[in-house]
Amino acid sequence: MTLTVSSCRSVEGVEWSQLDTILLDMDGTLLDLEFDNHFWGTVIPSEWGRRRGLDIATSKETLAPLFAEQQGRLNWYCLDFWGKTLNIDILQIKSDCAHGIRWRPQAERFMQHLNSSHLDVIMITNAHPITLEIKAERLSLAHYFDLMISSHRYNTPKEMPAFWNRLMAERPFDPERTLFLDDSEYVLEAAEAFGISHLITLRQPDSTVPPRQATRYPAIHHFDEIINGLPAID
Ligand SMILES: [Mg+2]
Repeated sequence: MTLTVSSCRSVEGVEWSQLDTILLDMDGTLLDLEFDNHFWGTVIPSEWGRRRGLDIATSKETLAPLFAEQQGRLNWYCLDFWGKTLNIDILQIKSDCAHGIRWRPQAERFMQHLNSSHLDVIMITNAHPITLEIKAERLSLAHYFDLMISSHRYNTPKEMPAFWNRLMAERPFDPERTLFLDDSEYVLEAAEAFGISHLITLRQPDSTVPPRQATRYPAIHHFDEIINGLPAID
């Protein structure tokens, strides 16, 4: 099915009893994408440029084609790749910035509700395993999920059909009884092609960027829009 870009379609709640599995993206869905946008858009160019005597504007301009070339590929998310390519210690810089990692509004509470539900709660992220580890440690993510998967384990990003085949093999699920939330419409497209019936995107992945006015998939701003029907928590 081809979806045309339209104004944001809101979500009229979720029939949780019709679902067995929820798949959740991490960055831009549960966590504020501001951290990653700032890290790759400012911190890394500035650190890379500083060693070469370049100002931030020149660094950004120089790195832009390189970044553009890798977008949507696994390398884009790979700390080893960028460490080697840019010859800087990405891991160290990322650890130094870890205080900026934070939940999106209402996301932690939403996870508490999901945690008390009948659903198999699975995180699927393109983030590198080390990035996932840093974020999971910072926000105690692990206890909210039955399973957390970095696509690097499958050696293919969520944008590719191979990812979904590998996921199905590792953790079988009924695509018609599965809800997937992700801020990337390219990723949602791949999930739709695989046959996942329930897809939701986010209107404001980065809290410092205005909400999106047009999305190709039904969109929520905050999680209270879909929380009805989940078990109550204390
Ligand atoms: Mg994301």
